[in-house]
Amino acid sequence: MSRHRVKAVSYDEDDYDDGYDSPDPEEQEFLQQCTAEVLSQLSAGDPPVTATREEVQEALWHYYNDVEKSVNYLRGKKAKEVKKPSAPAPAVKAKPSAGPSPDDVVLNAQSSAKGFKSKQASSKAAGKKAQADLAGGMNNLSVEEKVNVRSKNLDVLSEYSKSQRKKAMNFAVIGHVDAGKSTLMGRLLADLKAVDQRTLDKYRSEAHQMGKESFALAWVLDQGAEERARGVTIDIATNKFETESTVFTIVDSPGHRDFVPNMIAGASQADFAVLVIDSGTGNFESGLKGQTKEHALLARSMGIQRIIVAVNKMDSVEWDQERFEEIEQQVSSFLTTAGFQAKNIAFVPCSGISGDNVTRRSEDPKVSWYQGQTLVGELEATEPYSHAVDKPLRMTIGDVFRGSVQNPLSISGRLDAGSLQVGDQILTMPSGEKATIRSLEVDGEPNDWAVAGQNVTLNLVNIDPIHLRSGDVICRASAPIANVTSFTCKVLAFDHLLPSMVDIHRGRLHVPGRISQLIATLDKGSGSIIKKKPKIVGPGTVARIVVEMDQAVPLEAPTRIVLRAGGDTVAAGLLE
Ligand code: GDP
Repeated sequence: MSRHRVKAVSYDEDDYDDGYDSPDPEEQEFLQQCTAEVLSQLSAGDPPVTATREEVQEALWHYYNDVEKSVNYLRGKKAKEVKKPSAPAPAVKAKPSAGPSPDDVVLNAQSSAKGFKSKQASSKAAGKKAQADLAGGMNNLSVEEKVNVRSKNLDVLSEYSKSQRKKAMNFAVIGHVDAGKSTLMGRLLADLKAVDQRTLDKYRSEAHQMGKESFALAWVLDQGAEERARGVTIDIATNKFETESTVFTIVDSPGHRDFVPNMIAGASQADFAVLVIDSGTGNFESGLKGQTKEHALLARSMGIQRIIVAVNKMDSVEWDQERFEEIEQQVSSFLTTAGFQAKNIAFVPCSGISGDNVTRRSEDPKVSWYQGQTLVGELEATEPYSHAVDKPLRMTIGDVFRGSVQNPLSISGRLDAGSLQVGDQILTMPSGEKATIRSLEVDGEPNDWAVAGQNVTLNLVNIDPIHLRSGDVICRASAPIANVTSFTCKVLAFDHLLPSMVDIHRGRLHVPGRISQLIATLDKGSGSIIKKKPKIVGPGTVARIVVEMDQAVPLEAPTRIVLRAGGDTVAAGLLE
């Protein structure tokens, strides 16, 4: 699978470098054996469970070919698929008696919450039912009867320049499974008081009873699961914390994603990434071979420029300076070949468990050799992207959900460009339907307006919910985004590219389509044409290709897209 194939690859928009293995026959065979084993265990179980090969291989990929974990995951997943979403699924508190990793606990809770929510809003089949539900919830709000919303007609950009709001940034957390991502993020949320003390104490005592004190922190990350299960809150606003200068939102936090498609969605909304590395002897080396590289490469493909490397679990190596420096040297050489500039990479030795160098500087004499920033210091030192606030409005819908009685229909997401205010009429694509913004929230706080870069919830009226889906784009009738059924793009091939079926991912949007033409292979540095109409494009090569889709989708240059096939990332690049 792609993580095995991906090797050090250097590229920027116009600067790509060689370096992919072709699939290893031994690995392929091992994967086939594991797949067969998982399928047989699933069908022999009580009750028997059926899964597609693709689902099995996706699970195996995630769990590093661990058959048992993959079987457990798929059983849980399938059980949820048959359950009625009538009652919110139990969240974090479901405590398996054996010792699952906190990651499993979080993932399970997430998939319960997600399963419920997706039955309400995202899954295609159930989407219709959800839409009917939403429509039911809107009985008192007939679509024909237009609701008038008074606009204050603010000059949003001048309001924005006057406003005293804190800097706001989103980041994605990436790294190998078990690197300590959930624990470290839980530590940040707990130490910065983003989680209330009672909840924390409750998790601590539950974890203590299990004899797994350290799990409490990982559970903190998931404290929104219950609300999400009720369909009232949204992924994106759940894991938020503040420092004196900045409001941070963790998008794509470890428990929040099912594999790569969700990592792509998260990374597309992030200003920077935190890469968590397990400094434990042997663990770092195996992690670097695994997801660490693919995640970092994908993050770069999605346009992320700055990366903060948390060299975690330093307590487990006695805060050994040499170990830290060895990791620093290897990871920075890998990250620079993946396209990150050295000035945009920072390293912090830390421990999520003890909290040293996370929000407070370590006082341990063993750490006296380190004089740099804490993890939070590095987060704060990051400059936010300058978002195009004065460009035409663009916002990709992350979630559509049923809000409160006053606000029966809401959408959330990050404003990619432009600005908006209460009372504005917006256009949603691809449906081409209009809606009115009745009220809005910025980072969970009511506000009259919002600008690019902010995470917003828009409470809408005058639209039927069937016209809104996650992945759709919000714009204005005066400067609409076009629906297209084909596009030309410049991509870096992760695998062999031929005219063939692919899934096109753009943020949360993913649609089936196909590569219909290989126009040319390009020089990585200059972008000039090397060969016209190649029959095949090899891994590591940059090419211009044409992609066609079965349905019209709102897309425009210079959007970043990822092409996947059979559960693998085959190419990533920019729409032209
Ligand atoms: P994730 O899969 O990356 O989210 O990792 P988790 O946060 O679930 O942690 C994986 C395992 O590493 C758990 O058993 C944690 O208790 C342990 N762990 C996490 N952080 C630290 C740390 O700073 N030091 C040590 N020694 N162990 C840690």
